Amino acid sequence: MRIETGLKLGFKDVMIRPKRSTLSSRSQVTLDRNFTFLHSKYKWNGIPIMAANMDTVGTFEMAKELAKHKIFTAIHKHYSLQEWKEFMESISDEMTDYFSVSTGTGSADSEKLAIIMKEHPQIKFICIDVANGYSEHFVNFVKKARKLYPTKVIMAGNVVTGEMVEELLLAGADIIKVGIGPGSVCTTRVKTGVGYPQLSAIIECADAAHGLGGQIVSDGGCKIPGDIAKAFGGGADFVMLGGMLAGHTESGGKTIEINGEKYKQFYGMSSETAMNKHVGGVADYRASEGKTVEVRYRGAVENTVQDFLGSLRSTCTYVGASKLKELTKRTTFIRVQEQHNEVFSK
Ligand code: 5GP
Repeated sequence: MRIETGLKLGFKDVMIRPKRSTLSSRSQVTLDRNFTFLHSKYKWNGIPIMAANMDTVGTFEMAKELAKHKIFTAIHKHYSLQEWKEFMESISDEMTDYFSVSTGTGSADSEKLAIIMKEHPQIKFICIDVANGYSEHFVNFVKKARKLYPTKVIMAGNVVTGEMVEELLLAGADIIKVGIGPGSVCTTRVKTGVGYPQLSAIIECADAAHGLGGQIVSDGGCKIPGDIAKAFGGGADFVMLGGMLAGHTESGGKTIEINGEKYKQFYGMSSETAMNKHVGGVADYRASEGKTVEVRYRGAVENTVQDFLGSLRSTCTYVGASKLKELTKRTTFIRVQEQHNEVFSK
């Protein structure tokens, strides 16, 4: 046993200090970023926010809506081949910059991925997603995927430490998914005791990735728009959202009525609900590591998107960043003991 005593921080432990600025309006702020990815060499432009590959968030409907804002959707892995065919027939070529197909590392997953990629060669992004990105099997899967799909942008995770970010980048991934346990419907920390405070994970993993020319996506733990700004401020190239995009018309999942109010079901991809739905129940050697919750129905996602993009522009204005790219350089975090005033919160 060993104890690491260095300070590790989450979003709630810091605020961003305002700085003198020459910007006079939020409208002067550009949130677009341009990236050339490490292995695929693909050049991308867009707003680097991603909808999570959960079947109550990362749906085809969500992708179509978010792409209008150049925002990315990691499509969940449970659509059938026929559903993929219909989706691909319904979209334009430009939209292929704003979604990924997702896969696990099982043999059924990789066979399905191979068929999807063969039938739809215009797909540009692949998200290889496992709860625990520390296994040798996972690294080998990423290596194989790089050989099979040399020109595709490969996103892989999840991990939370620099040495594993480096290993996955060297194995062939372009973007590393960072986050273990911070998710809104995740119970990994409760069930296993494993995790890493998300802001420190971002800072350390971004440093490792940028040293090799790769990118990271901060995955999980954003509760309010200010957390998205903190993630970018800490060095995240992309920020992935689950709970903040749940409960909308485009989010998928059941709509439920409770006392005359509309709610939408939202659940973790390792929850009992998800396992019952997709793999016929929780296998007897494992425990569910996700929650099932009802989120109040929030209407069209468009309004939420306007809100968090406006908030992010405002952060940039406060610190004098005219481009999202400059936000990390302009960020000084201060450690705090309090966050927002909750007098009028429910
Ligand atoms: P959120 O934005 O809701 O805080 O976090 C979303 C992220 O939580 C997802 O992108 C994924 O990494 C993670 N996640 C989703 N479902 C589960 C689950 O059932 N268990 C765990 N441990 N994490 C999950």
